[in-house]
Amino acid sequence: MSGEAGERDRIPLAQPVIGEAEEQAVLEVLRSGQLSLGPKLLAFERRFAERLGVDHASAVSSGTAGLHLALRAVGVGPGDEVISSPFSFIASSNTILMQDATPVFVDVEPDTLTIPADAVAAAVTERTAALLPVHIFGQPADVAGIEPLGLPIVEDAAEALGAVHADGTPVGGRGHPAIFAFYANKQLTTGEGGLVATADPAIKATIDSERNQGRAPDMQWLDHDRLGFNYRLSDIQCALGLAQLDRLDGMLADRARVAAWYAEALADLVARTGLELLAPDAGGERRSWFVYVVRVPRGVDRDATITALAERGIQTRPYLPAIHLFSFYRERFGFREGQFPVTEDAAARGLSLPFFPAMTQDQVARVVAELTAVLTGDGAPAA
Ligand SMILES: *Cc1c(COP(=O)(O)O)cnc(C)c1O
Repeated sequence: MSGEAGERDRIPLAQPVIGEAEEQAVLEVLRSGQLSLGPKLLAFERRFAERLGVDHASAVSSGTAGLHLALRAVGVGPGDEVISSPFSFIASSNTILMQDATPVFVDVEPDTLTIPADAVAAAVTERTAALLPVHIFGQPADVAGIEPLGLPIVEDAAEALGAVHADGTPVGGRGHPAIFAFYANKQLTTGEGGLVATADPAIKATIDSERNQGRAPDMQWLDHDRLGFNYRLSDIQCALGLAQLDRLDGMLADRARVAAWYAEALADLVARTGLELLAPDAGGERRSWFVYVVRVPRGVDRDATITALAERGIQTRPYLPAIHLFSFYRERFGFREGQFPVTEDAAARGLSLPFFPAMTQDQVARVVAELTAVLTGDGAPAA
């Protein structure tokens, strides 16, 4: 660590909001003796579904588990193709592989970093079993635009709790199985956790069975009528989720406020260096702020920027790597560099800055000051 940036003023990359309400909620479950498959599970599912305006929700052990079960529930299996985004956290594609299906990627749009409906339509073949749009960085993907294709849709809304489509529908509230995730850096956390929202009671029933070892709710404990998993979310976690739902609107507003501080503080650097920020909301769509990602100016070495910022006590992260360029994807599917240029550019230049609801304007100012020093000072990291 360099001298002036001691442990005292270290700014974390992310930080959950956990208070007395969360502590009390967890303690109550611990003292109740019913630690799993209890009343908190049902209450959490019901309140989450109500918030989205859908009829059903199934809480599961992670967003990844939710994606896996949702793909299974819409019938994705060996040999099928699923159209998705190469610019995502790897779980959205790995779950396609878990079903021995093939991810078919289409490149994202430069502004939204989501997959455009016309490119999705052009990638459909007779083997396409589902479409898997990703609401990356909390940006609503164009789901309405792919609905006319008539194929099952599974939405990865892991980063998008609180986002709103142009027509006013909450992201994840259009009725397709939509998954949310509750790892500690997400908009709402249960430590680890996930949830599938859906309008379809049959999909809800399938997911409820398969998360619980292939056991329907009306079956005995050791009775099973299909392959299942242990993808359950405990009542301890659901109680935490309920407490987080109580304060969700406040946390979302805090995130939006921190993002606005960043945009204001970075305006000068954007004008001077060609640093790029995420596109502002357009046409009635509303992003739910999940991460604060900037793209370093062209010609600047992103990884050297990360190192230089770390030396100044600012933790940042490359965000996100392109999925098709991971070695096991290249080897298995023959992906290569140059196939998805917008994704590859975003992956090469993306830098995630410290971002969390309790972040202060002073902390934002300090991050921006250090980034300014690194990008404009002597020895700026050229690519
Ligand atoms: C976090 C995340 C997931 C997976 O969630 P986990 O709960 O970590 O399994 C899936 N997709 C995206 C885009 C995510 O950001």
